[in-house]
This record gives sequence, C-alpha cells and structure tokens, in this order.
Amino acid sequence: MARLMGQMMQMPLLISSVIVHAACHHGDTEIVSKRVEGDLHRTTYAECELRSRKLAQAFARLGCTDSDRIGTLAWNGYRHLEIYYASSGSGLVCHTINPRLFPEQIAWIANDAEDRVLCFDLTFLPLVEKLAPSLPHIKHYIAMTGRAHMPAQTGIPNLLCYEELVEAENGDYAWPEFDENTASSLCYTSGTTGHPKGAVYSHRSSILHAYAVSLPDSMGNSATDTILPVVPMFHVNAWGLPYAAPLVGCRLVFPGPHMDGKSLYELFESEQVTFSAGVPTVWLGLLAYVKQNGLKFSSFKRTVIGGSACPPAMLRTLEDDFGVSVIHAWGMTEMSPVGTLARLKAKHAGQPVAEQRRLLQSQGRVVYGVDMALIGDDGSTRPWDGKTSGDLVVRGPWVIDRYFKQDASPLVQADGQAWFPTGDVAAIDADGYMHITDRSKDVIKSGGEWISSIELENIAMAHPAVHEAAVIAAAHAKWDERPLLVVIRKPGAEVTREELLAHYEGRIAKWQIPDDVVFVTEIAHTATGKIQKLKLREQFMDHVLRGA
Ligand code: ADP
Repeated sequence: MARLMGQMMQMPLLISSVIVHAACHHGDTEIVSKRVEGDLHRTTYAECELRSRKLAQAFARLGCTDSDRIGTLAWNGYRHLEIYYASSGSGLVCHTINPRLFPEQIAWIANDAEDRVLCFDLTFLPLVEKLAPSLPHIKHYIAMTGRAHMPAQTGIPNLLCYEELVEAENGDYAWPEFDENTASSLCYTSGTTGHPKGAVYSHRSSILHAYAVSLPDSMGNSATDTILPVVPMFHVNAWGLPYAAPLVGCRLVFPGPHMDGKSLYELFESEQVTFSAGVPTVWLGLLAYVKQNGLKFSSFKRTVIGGSACPPAMLRTLEDDFGVSVIHAWGMTEMSPVGTLARLKAKHAGQPVAEQRRLLQSQGRVVYGVDMALIGDDGSTRPWDGKTSGDLVVRGPWVIDRYFKQDASPLVQADGQAWFPTGDVAAIDADGYMHITDRSKDVIKSGGEWISSIELENIAMAHPAVHEAAVIAAAHAKWDERPLLVVIRKPGAEVTREELLAHYEGRIAKWQIPDDVVFVTEIAHTATGKIQKLKLREQFMDHVLRGA
C-alpha cells in the first residue's frame, strides 16, 4: 500500500529566501563594514536585499546563466555579502577563493572551478593583474568599489566597476524558484597535499546548516546580537554566518581587511559587538593587544573558536579575565563546515568548574543533522568510552557526498552506512562529547604508541612565557618518532628549554614529554590560520634530538 504523504506546501529551501526574510522582518537592522577604502560603511538588510537583486540583474546582463561560477577574492564586507546572495539567489554559484593561497594555487582553483566572473577587493588588484593572463575562463573582472576608487590604469581587460554595475539596474527582479538541491556555492579545501578539492554546497544544505548553527546549543545567534565574523567569508563561508545572521536578523559588523588586534578591538568597542567567531591565531593577536594595553571588552559576551584546537589556556583567559564564553567548535570544508560544538548539558550545571571546563575544551557534541562514528584499523566501529580512539567519520545532509569533478567516491563503509572520513583521530565519550587527538597525519608515533601533538601544544600554551607552540614528530633512531616542541616566546619573556620540559612533569605521562625544545621567532600558518606542520617538519627534519 502506498504511504500517506505529508500534505504540506512544497517550498524549496532557497538562499534567496533568507535575505528576503531579513529584508522583510529585520529591514532596518544594520550591516556595518570597515571598507578597503578605509572608512566605515553602514547599510541595512533591506538595502542589502535590494542591491543583491540589482547585482543579480547585472550578472544576467553580463551573460551569466545557470550555475555559472562567480569567483570572489574579497574580505568580509557588505559587497561580498551582496555577491553571496545575488549569485546563489539567481541560480549562479558563489565561489569564494582564499586570497592567502599561493597565486599559482589561486589560478589553479579558479580554472578548476571555471569561474566566469571574478569579483575582487582593491587590495587584490596587483594579484589579479598578475593572474589574469592565466585565467582563460574568466569573462568579466569586477572591482568591488565605486568609480572614484577605480584604478586609472590596469592590465586587466575591460575591468568593471561594482557600484556602476549595481547602480545601472532598477531592482525590478523576482528571485527565481528552482530545485533546492541546486548548487549554491563552492569552496576548495586548502589542500596541504596535492591539489585543492572543491566542495559544492546546495541551497538545501546551506539552509539546513544555517538553521543548525543558529540553535541555542550551537552558536545561538539571535536578533539581539551584534556579530562580528572574524573568520573570513572565504574560509568555508565564514562558517555559515552570512546565512545564519540574516536568518535570525542579528546585526552584522564586518572588519574588511583590518584584522590586527588594535583595529579589531576598536571595532568590537565602537560597534558594541556581542558575538564573534574565528580561528585561535586571531585571538592570540587580539588578546595580546588587549592585555598589553590593559583593556577590557564592554559588550563582547561569547565567541566561537574553531578551525584548529582552541588551547585551554586561551579559553581560560577569555572566560576568566574577560568574561567572554568560548564555544569551541569543530568542522571542515567538506561539512559546510560545522559538525560539533562544545556546550554543556543540564546535568553538568552542578559539576565542578574543572569538569565543566574539560567538556568545554573538547571539540563538543554533534548538532542535529550530523552523525559521527569512530572506526578502528579493522574497519569496525569503536566504542564511545572517552578513551578508545579511532578514525572519525561523519554523515549528514550538509556533508559532501563527492568532490567537485572527481569520480572516485571519498566515502567509506561502516555499519552498513556510507561515511565521510574526516582524517581526524578522535575519542568520543558516553555523552557524545568528541575529543580530537590529532589530524591522522600529525599524530606522533613513538615506539608504536600514539602521542597527541594537540595535547602537548595545549600544555605548552598554558605556560605564561609561551606565545605560540607547535609540536611535531622528529625522527628518532630507537622510537621512530619523538615529539619536538617549537615555541615562540612572549615579547620580553624568559624561559629555558629545561623549564619548559619541567612544565610537562605531572601533566602528562613521562614518555609523552617532548624530547627537545627549539625557540623560533615565527611559525608559518596556512591560508586558513592553522600551523603549517608540514613546513615545520621540513624545517626541523635534520634536528637531532638530544639523547637520541
Ligand atoms: P582548511 O581550513 O585547511 O581548508 P578545513 O577547515 O576543512 O581545511 O580543516 C578541517 C580540519 O581542521 C579538521 O579536519 C581538523 O583536523 C581541523 N580542525 C577544525 N576545527 C578543529 C578543532 N576545534 N579542534 C581541532 N582540530 C580542528
């Protein structure tokens, strides 16, 4: 017998509906942007929706049709937001490119995506001039600025002016309705090995993800918040915030290219920001500035930290010294990106702070929509006992099924289901709190036992003289690999190798203590702000461990 079908309206989940909702119900809510031009710009959701419609008309006038890719090389700002909505909303694909990648990588990505249009902030004019000859698919270059700031001379053919394109249209445009499974946007992984790979999100996956990140136990963004996403809109769509903010109608503040500690602090204060999100390295910079100048935050209440492990010392400083609650989150490009967030349950309310902190320092529990499992070497699933570790796999409606243009499926089978292998090694406790030990390629294999580089880094970061720490595997004749600690000292702080090694005693098993320490003045980061372990390993390949 045929199943009784639900008798509800069929309304596809489309990205345009988010900005239409915001314009209708939060029309006067502000979007504030620090511009490349240097000034502070104010607009509203109503104006953003109107200008997105005009930009959609402009894209159509330029000849863009279904699923054409619109590339961006841009900071967080209102024009970038308009491009998000104009492109996806009109059935095109918004392709944010990370401008911090090597120029050759950027060209490779833009060519692989077959971007038809490239919109860029003026900061990137020299980069685009250099790349243009190697980008055969791009038909139109758009400088995201007004006529007054357009470059007088440029090697870019037929360079268009963003504001002129928008102003030339009348906004008499109805957002089209189409299948919610249509591609909405495209992000490439940074590809530490091999070529970057593209994740193609759909309207449906983006909307479901935006709902999920907005839940109270996720980011909990609300119409009462002023949110400043420090995480760039080119880093996995700023973790979904450009959709989640208008979805609930919270006020948005964009820092543009001004991401140093001083500029961020001043913007947090002048715009009374309540909520933020960013990778740990950003907070290192901001906290160093705030501490050095004896400042406090007057409105900042909570922040999401993710992209790499948030050191417990950073969490403590933010919470204890500045009254900012930290929401530690984990995810990846292939997951849109949010998978888990560390939030407490009711039963933890009465527990000692140390126990609560232990949970808040974990990568957290999944948000509804994501399912996870641990897989052992034999391919079977591992128990959730908080101790047994395994390869972390995930599934859900905002997890990729395959990579752009790749035939081979990345998925693995376990328990009769297909899963996406994250490349992370983790343990999960009985309450579902997941704890990442390492990326599988960063874990240190010493005499057949595994040592977590993240754990060793966290301990070093808790030392008052340490600004930043990275732990890598160094070759060892007897044990294969042993941990090597690489440290940047805080300005003016003194600490010796011996003192740092002594700092590990009693905090971790003796055999896990790093064998050696090297002091450096700089640690390289990837284009998304993660420590470049590969580079460090190359740098210290010939480092002879003391006692080896
Ligand atoms: P990239 O930024 O390098 O392009 P992703 O953002 O997709 O790539 O990186 C995802 C990976 O980042 C995860 O698989 C994990 O290893 C790491 N990661 C993300 N968040 C956390 C976290 N909170 N703790 C530890 N590792 C994290």
